[in-house]
Amino acid sequence: MTIQEFQRCIEELYYDRDQQRGIDRTFIWFVEEVGELAREIKDSRDPQRLKEEIADVFAWLSTIASLLRIDLEDAASIYATGCPKCQQTPCTC
Ligand SMILES: [Zn+2]
Repeated sequence: MTIQEFQRCIEELYYDRDQQRGIDRTFIWFVEEVGELAREIKDSRDPQRLKEEIADVFAWLSTIASLLRIDLEDAASIYATGCPKCQQTPCTC
């Protein structure tokens, strides 16, 4: 699955509901999911739970991008040719 396919998948699953909720409240949901990932890293580190929390954060980030009409794969491509600031791989900033 490409990042673009993932974004379309999340849109098909949730976009209507996310659009009704709006960007401000959706962003709060995203931050809550980041908090759940933080808790999992801090408290448990169960590999399956970490995987699920990473997926949730990525899905909510994808939704944020969709609501802002940003192509997530295009945005990620900023890193395809090295560090966006110094253009080096690995980064030398
Ligand atoms: Zn750099």
